[in-house]
Amino acid sequence: MHKMNFEESPLQSELRSLTRQFTQKELLPLVEEDENNQRFRPELIRKLGDLGLTGIPLPINYGGAGLGYQEYIIAIEEIAAVNAGYAISVAVTGLTQMILNTFGNEEQKKKYIPPLAKGHAIGAFSLSEANSGSDAASLKTTAQKQGNHYLVNGTKLWTTQGDSADTIILMARTGEAGPRGISAFILEKGISGFQYGKKEKKMGCHTSHTMELIFQNVEVPAENRIGNEGDGLKIAMTALDSGRITIAAAALGISRAALQIAIHHAQQREQFGKPLSEFQGISFMLADMAVLLNAATLLVQKSAWLKDEGKSFTHEAAISKLFATDMAMKVTTDAVQILGGSGYTQDFPLERYMREAKVLQIVEGTNQIQRMIIGRNLTQGPKRKRK
Ligand SMILES: Cc1cc2nc3c(=O)[nH]c(=O)nc-3n(C[C@H](O)[C@H](O)[C@H](O)COP(=O)(O)OP(=O)(O)OC[C@H]3O[C@@H](n4cnc5c(N)ncnc54)[C@H](O)[C@@H]3O)c2cc1C
Repeated sequence: MHKMNFEESPLQSELRSLTRQFTQKELLPLVEEDENNQRFRPELIRKLGDLGLTGIPLPINYGGAGLGYQEYIIAIEEIAAVNAGYAISVAVTGLTQMILNTFGNEEQKKKYIPPLAKGHAIGAFSLSEANSGSDAASLKTTAQKQGNHYLVNGTKLWTTQGDSADTIILMARTGEAGPRGISAFILEKGISGFQYGKKEKKMGCHTSHTMELIFQNVEVPAENRIGNEGDGLKIAMTALDSGRITIAAAALGISRAALQIAIHHAQQREQFGKPLSEFQGISFMLADMAVLLNAATLLVQKSAWLKDEGKSFTHEAAISKLFATDMAMKVTTDAVQILGGSGYTQDFPLERYMREAKVLQIVEGTNQIQRMIIGRNLTQGPKRKRK
């Protein structure tokens, strides 16, 4: 008889403890200051790479750890429990590798994946523009074929770690208007005609920079196109299916950390002559937070398992992303409430967690877009299996 297994394997527990040791020792002491100074440290990505944590689900022959998403989500959760900015940075570098591994040719894989998988290079994914966010198929940046290169012109918005990335996956229009006219390209840092625009002044996640990227007659070699002309949107949407599992995993980490602080505070803080935890109003809030976190954890683990098993997971990834990130928003908001005035100050990281949770409801497809995906699957049937 096959049993369902809800226990972490010894390897998964080891990975969790390795990531936790790293985040406690290397990341935690820097986080508050770096958040205030909007500082991203590429050397931390390199150190995570030295531990094998930047290419967890990538094949060993390209420098990855050869593990699966069930391991990957553990690392992302642990990093997010300390700082969502770095969890997002690792996730985006992972998204870049995932695109190359799934859709790249052998030369592209050999050249670009190993530095990313080892943490020696940083990756970025550039799809969104000022007038095309949720409606990604309407993007305007163009890539015109001229001999053995493409000439790229346009402006991208919201590219996470666009200013530190060595390898950027860029979506640009090579053909007709709409979803079929978009292609994917690999861009290397420092290419002529490529400039950084504004850095967004955000609500949170300041250790992760979000950049405008400007392209003026940038010559991208034709060999840097990924897949065929017109494959770009399919590539982006496939990548985002997997990316959503990691965003959901980040939501788990933030929420777990917030819940722990709220429980501790409720046990210590006394009002009306007894600890807050003895008031049913507070203990029920804590109970509800734990229920939501447990449910979200199972959803995220199931999505990761489906992906690892090579089964269809688009629907479940959308459900996980929607539920886990809405859960994180509620859990962090309630944790602030349980700490009262202190929760609203920077004496505790809860207000930061709340700001970090918010962005997870927006990135990699807003939660309204997740509902559209889920609703479409329910009423029109699932689309073909994503890779
Ligand atoms: C910190 C941060 C990092 C990011 N990193 C990246 C990155 O690395 N790469 C990248 O390409 N992009 C990135 N993005 C962009 C992100 O993916 C978009 O912000 C997101 O897809 C939403 O697009 P938009 O902001 O243009 O909002 P819009 O699409 O204008 O949406 C505005 C509102 O309308 C809702 N809405 C839109 N269409 C519908 C509909 N059909 N039905 C119901 N509601 C709808 C949305 O849910 C949202 O609430 C990042 C964004 C942020 C904030």
